[in-house]
Amino acid sequence: MKGHFPTDKFQEIETPFYYYDTQLLRDTLQAIKQEVSRHAGYMVHYAIKANANPKVLNIIAQAGFGADCVSGGEIRAALAVGIPPSKIVYAGVGKADWEIQLGLSKNIFCFNVESLAELKVINELAGQMGKTARVAFRINPDVGAHTHAKITTGLAENKFGITMSDMENVIEVAASMEHVKFVGLHFHIGSQILNMDDFAALCNRVNDLQQQLERKRIHVEHINVGGGLGVDYQHPNRVPIPDFKSYFSTYARLLRLRPGQTLHFELGRAVVAQCGSLITRTLYVKQGTAKQFAIVDAGFTDLIRPALYQAYHKIENISSEGPIATYDVVGPICESTDVFGKAVDLNTTSRGDLIALRSAGAYGEIMASQYNCRRLPIGYITEDL
Ligand SMILES: *Cc1c(COP(=O)(O)O)cnc(C)c1O
Repeated sequence: MKGHFPTDKFQEIETPFYYYDTQLLRDTLQAIKQEVSRHAGYMVHYAIKANANPKVLNIIAQAGFGADCVSGGEIRAALAVGIPPSKIVYAGVGKADWEIQLGLSKNIFCFNVESLAELKVINELAGQMGKTARVAFRINPDVGAHTHAKITTGLAENKFGITMSDMENVIEVAASMEHVKFVGLHFHIGSQILNMDDFAALCNRVNDLQQQLERKRIHVEHINVGGGLGVDYQHPNRVPIPDFKSYFSTYARLLRLRPGQTLHFELGRAVVAQCGSLITRTLYVKQGTAKQFAIVDAGFTDLIRPALYQAYHKIENISSEGPIATYDVVGPICESTDVFGKAVDLNTTSRGDLIALRSAGAYGEIMASQYNCRRLPIGYITEDL
């Protein structure tokens, strides 16, 4: 046992694999529930795209969370773990007919609609099925989140969502349609956001838009502010649970809900990132001229965030107590971007040592690929060991 890891048990498992600390997951879910319960009408839909491992999903479902889905496959995954359709929201810029039909046949809570073209198709398909689709419009609030360019979604010109100037028009069009019912406004400004000012800016924008609609006597049943709360990738031990208190109280303080209105959240990363680690084994230590490389058996096929977003994951040698040395930690994939970390300080590392890439529970296992004909990594939870 070193740090939080049952290293002895890890020795028997083929690497690389994901390990999910279910105690931490449960504590995180409890922390969210505690904050949410302070505010009337708040509801959290876990964003399945962050991690759809059935064992992880099952724990989240049992805690009573709803689901935010971005595909038909995710709707199926939510239903498979018993999340009721009445707690499922479905977003995405490109919903295929079968996915819309699936959502309609299951009577999901809401379609988060991202264009007029999509609204027309939903109305048509709902008509064919004798259904009425509940729809919310995803509005682009033009609030720039201070996060990585590749994960900012709330700016004005974007493939996501509907611009603010089109909001009233799409609501009017929906009102004229027979098989859709306008029920809400949806927003999502980006991901890995740690500055509460960004969420505050969203609250102010939502207040303005609500006032604008009120003047037209347009009633909105619910507001959905999406997800985006970040985690501390630098300090997974010191800050294992995100600051949910600040997050929810920012909304409570600033966003003015109307009587009877509910406020929906779609947290992904903040729920699952810290409970997961990618566990990999050192294959070789290669001495370069100016540095040394720890070549491990996991690659960007297992965890793509460093290669895709230049993301940082804390790296630890969990089977050595030797003096600290510096390594570039790299994978076996035939691409020069297959680097997990440069100049990483690790306990002296040799062949066979287990290495943990921390905070990998979100956008890790689910983004794995088979490039180079590699096997997909398996995910284990504490109870499996
Ligand atoms: C990705 C996504 C989320 C979850 O984002 P996190 O940063 O993981 O909290 C929520 N809502 C929508 C619409 C998304 O696309």
